[in-house]
Amino acid sequence: MKLNFKNKKSSLINEVLFKIFYISIGIVSIIAFISYISVYESEKNKRLEELSSYVSEKVRVNSEIFKLAEDNLKIFQKEFMKLYSSDIKVTEDEFWSYYFVDSQGATRMKREYFDGVYTKDGNYIYGMSSFIGNNQKVDDADFQRRLVLSIKVLSKLGPAWTNRFPNVSVAFPENAGILFYPGEPWGLKAKADLPMNELGVIKSVNKKDNPDRKSVWSGLYYDETAQKWTITYMKPVDFGDKHLITPGHDIYLSDLVERLAEKRDDGTYNFIMRKDGYLIAHPNNPEEEKKWIGELSIDKINIPLVKEAYGLIQKNVGQDYNKVKIIESKAYDSYLAVGEMKEPKWYLIRVLPMGNIRNVAHLAAINVFIEGMVILFTILFIVYYVMKYQGERHLMKLRQAAEAVGRGEYDKVAEGEIELPVELKNEIGVLSRSFYDMSISIKNFKENLEGIVEERTKALEKANNDLMKLSLLDGLTGIHNRRAFDKSINGVFLEAKMKLGTFSVMMIDIDFFKSYNDRYGHADGDEIIKKVANTFKDNIRKEDRVFRYGGEEFIVIFNNLEINMAKEVGEGIIKAIQNLNIPHEESPYEVITVSAGITEYNNTFNSPEEIIKAADKKLYVAKGKGRNCLEI
Ligand code: GH3
Ligand code: MG
Ligand code: MG
Repeated sequence: MKLNFKNKKSSLINEVLFKIFYISIGIVSIIAFISYISVYESEKNKRLEELSSYVSEKVRVNSEIFKLAEDNLKIFQKEFMKLYSSDIKVTEDEFWSYYFVDSQGATRMKREYFDGVYTKDGNYIYGMSSFIGNNQKVDDADFQRRLVLSIKVLSKLGPAWTNRFPNVSVAFPENAGILFYPGEPWGLKAKADLPMNELGVIKSVNKKDNPDRKSVWSGLYYDETAQKWTITYMKPVDFGDKHLITPGHDIYLSDLVERLAEKRDDGTYNFIMRKDGYLIAHPNNPEEEKKWIGELSIDKINIPLVKEAYGLIQKNVGQDYNKVKIIESKAYDSYLAVGEMKEPKWYLIRVLPMGNIRNVAHLAAINVFIEGMVILFTILFIVYYVMKYQGERHLMKLRQAAEAVGRGEYDKVAEGEIELPVELKNEIGVLSRSFYDMSISIKNFKENLEGIVEERTKALEKANNDLMKLSLLDGLTGIHNRRAFDKSINGVFLEAKMKLGTFSVMMIDIDFFKSYNDRYGHADGDEIIKKVANTFKDNIRKEDRVFRYGGEEFIVIFNNLEINMAKEVGEGIIKAIQNLNIPHEESPYEVITVSAGITEYNNTFNSPEEIIKAADKKLYVAKGKGRNCLEI
């Protein structure tokens, strides 16, 4: 029986590779996920630390410049007060050596003090300009003295400070100002009727507007002349109740503001807010809106994160100026690092979008995944290669062997025509050896079986032969029987009819046999039949044949024997029987005798029966003649 399996095509290699593939993809995914989480955590911590140190460094550096400005102006105050409280006199001539009145009535410092000139006392003055509005009287001696003393202090200190500050200025409660600023002769350019002492920051140091006499920071403004973000620091200097001068520094914050307000590629950006909620700088501010920066209050700001940040800062930032505070804004998926500057009262805020950290983690996870996949495919390729060339080759051999056995060709396997990898030490080797042994067993079994079958077949053939012979021989005498006779007579009759030869038929009957049986018994009778038959056999030629026709009757067919010769042979037979000398007391011859009749074939006979009948008639005639004789 042949089993038919539904045979979806599949191979061991594919199954193994797919299994490895699925399991490894799972493992690689888990590793990628774990690396995502750990990279996210470490990246977050790293970035928050960076954020914190960045902000605290910026706060420190920028606080320094404000501190320096304060220190400088303290020195200015000290130097000025030393001169002012001394007995130094300033004559009108000396005053007018510095100033002139222009065509519009404004008093201005002469141009040479900007371009550079040596004074009588040997000092080199440059970069200076001064302006007194045309509405301002200049004949007051103290006013003139303060102006000249200020020029002296300014010309001494100004040049030393311009490496960190663009300029040093001195404003007056009167409508006047002096500027050390090598970049621009401001005092020569200011409009003749400019009301300086009414401008915002200068006005704010007046006794009326600043009764506490505090130093003042202007708001941040964009200095169109210098094209820079600027803030002005001013320190009112009084003597007793009298407001004498207000020295000031302009501080350029362009670098600070522009760098801070710049958006970085890594997604972080900064903005600066005043503590009272005014936005100082933000990267969203377009260039042309520079003028209003520093003037925009929280209620006018429509940058949602800034509003949210201000709210969070109010809630979370305490009074600790030295520490940068990290605040998480869930709503905007960001971290805010808030640094606080004492003067001016600003918050420096750096924003780190969390998406940025996630991107890094994603990238790391993807890298891990890709690396994992590369390794996986390398392994799969190696496994494929090893299995294909180590495993499948051997399995193919086994398969060929199995198919050969299936076809019944055990020998091919058993005799090594199909080689099996029996030398392998692995499972395939074990399987191969078992398979090889099995093939040998089957081969041996088959050979045994074939031997047995051959033996049996021979026996059967012999039995068949014997049976065949037996069926043509007479069981008692061993000579041919009636069936054999029927066959033979048909054959010779046909040949004779075709004139291929001729024949004679002799019919023989034992005489007085009934009485012999009666006298000696049936068994002895049988013995007589045997002896008679043997005697017939011994007395005919090789070419002739004797048959037991039935009972104690026999027929001899003489082939191609002339009738006279046949007669001779027949008479010889009769004689030979008599000569056996078997006693038969009931017979007149006192021994066993036979009678016979011979008929020769001729073409008047139409069937074998006719010639047999004719021979029988002759026998009957011989019986009638007294028996123990032959009738032809
Ligand atoms: P005849 O001389 O006229 O032939 O006399 P006969 O007694 O031989 O007469 P017949 O031929 O009619 O008788 C045949 C006898 O042969 C009858 C039977 O008892 C005997 N007989 C036939 N077949 C056998 C046999 O196989 N064995 C023995 N013992 N006797 C047989
Ligand atoms: Mg008879
Ligand atoms: Mg008889």
